[in-house]
Amino acid sequence: MDGTQVRIKFWGVRGSTPTPQIENLKFGGNTSCLEVRNGANECVIFDAGSGIRALGQTLMQEAAGAPIDAKIFLTHFHWDHIQGIPFFAPLYGPQNHISFLSGSTGRPLQETLEGQMAKPYFPIDFGQVAAKRDFQQIETGGSIKVGDLTIRPFPLNHPQGASGYRIECKGVVIVYATDYEHGVSESDAVLCEHAQNANILICDAQYTPAEYETHRGWGHSTWQNAVLLAREARAEHLMLFHHDPSHDDQAMMQISQNARMQFENTTGAWEGFVAAL
Ligand SMILES: [Zn+2]
Ligand SMILES: [Zn+2]
Repeated sequence: MDGTQVRIKFWGVRGSTPTPQIENLKFGGNTSCLEVRNGANECVIFDAGSGIRALGQTLMQEAAGAPIDAKIFLTHFHWDHIQGIPFFAPLYGPQNHISFLSGSTGRPLQETLEGQMAKPYFPIDFGQVAAKRDFQQIETGGSIKVGDLTIRPFPLNHPQGASGYRIECKGVVIVYATDYEHGVSESDAVLCEHAQNANILICDAQYTPAEYETHRGWGHSTWQNAVLLAREARAEHLMLFHHDPSHDDQAMMQISQNARMQFENTTGAWEGFVAAL
């Protein structure tokens, strides 16, 4: 990648549940999945919502039979962030190695993921998939290196907990902060600290300010809170993420425009969006 340190691609941007109706397909109907690649073309994945299925197919095509080494960082275990795992094709290749990582969640990672493929939820048991698998929880304050990427999880205010990730690579910073509700000052401070000077800040913006009034405590934020965070953290580019299932393309264009009036460098994340930094 000529001069590019990091490339990101969105494979799922929808919150809560997939919404593949035609009126949503400009922004996309798949749930959370983000691909990040460094200059050496090493690929790390954030969340395994339904969007990870198409990413898995792409990885299989690229590998053309060669082993795939994929690292999947999960924010938390709500359905919309793990439902694509059984459909991630590289899991079924014996030559492949899939690492699952998470921040500190208070739950054993392996056991929790095995649960979603246990009888009678899926015909293949997670213990029987062909790829080699490993599981790693990163303690709060810790970090993981993948080539020249450094990935640091931090806690987010969300029912049952969630982790955001600050991803650094040779001076480029990407922050992935979905499933977050603003308003708890200690948590807001942690997020703001980890979002400092992000080149790209990906932020939960599920609700409009009016919708938020009837969804307090549901664990999500508004585009307006995302804008305030972007300003406070001096982010360069804000990407609104985890779109509400009820927001069709027209609603999303309006939300994106409203946010741009207050923070010019804002994009409503859409499936297929690529940025190279
Ligand atoms: Zn979610
Ligand atoms: Zn959630």
